[in-house]
Amino acid sequence: MDVGRLSPDDAAALHAILQALEPSLTAKQRGGTAALLTWEELYEPLSPPQRAFLDAFRALKAASLGATAHFFGEPSAPPDLVPVGPQEIVKEGVAKPLDPQYLPREALSAYQRMMDAMEADLGTRLRVESGYRSPAYQLYLFLFYLPKHGDSITETNRFVALPGHSEHGYPPRQAVDFINEAGINGEDHPEEFEALPEYRWLEEHAARFGFALSYPRGNPHGTAFEPWHWHFEGEKE
Ligand SMILES: [Zn+2]
Repeated sequence: MDVGRLSPDDAAALHAILQALEPSLTAKQRGGTAALLTWEELYEPLSPPQRAFLDAFRALKAASLGATAHFFGEPSAPPDLVPVGPQEIVKEGVAKPLDPQYLPREALSAYQRMMDAMEADLGTRLRVESGYRSPAYQLYLFLFYLPKHGDSITETNRFVALPGHSEHGYPPRQAVDFINEAGINGEDHPEEFEALPEYRWLEEHAARFGFALSYPRGNPHGTAFEPWHWHFEGEKE
């Protein structure tokens, strides 16, 4: 597989796979369980050659792309994942529900206490736009975003981790992507999230609750600056 740019044949195979996956992924997303997608569920709608194509992606390591993203591995049984609970943002006066999210119990409890403190200071709380993501869902996201990054695996990897390389799929270092009450998540313009009072509050206080910024500007991992992406390291007394 050419990691700089998929060959036309591979790009066509990817397109067919995304089409084949669309019905089941849409159903899981509607049902609020896409983040918990299993390998069996991901592979089920695919032909044997398509499954082999996915296997090739599962075998890819960031190191072989010249990136230094850490390989966490794929913990098999997700431990004590609990739903974050109903969440919504309000855009132009209209409330919009967020997709259901899941976090390990301890991370969820620390997040809630951190938000209680933020609300006491700023009168607002950040929502969890993305918490736990299974390795299978992580691979689906990688494939979904690949055509949007010129079919380049190397370039996509700067923005979406390969399965096994994401803190979202590694509960001992559980990642949380935040979005504010007004729906600002910095996805298109990281500076918008960086400029929020909520972000400055996190910089000052998150460590107290066991959270740390994973990808600061100019990080050594070759990962883009992600001011919304924090991970839970466990609380220090
Ligand atoms: Zn993230």
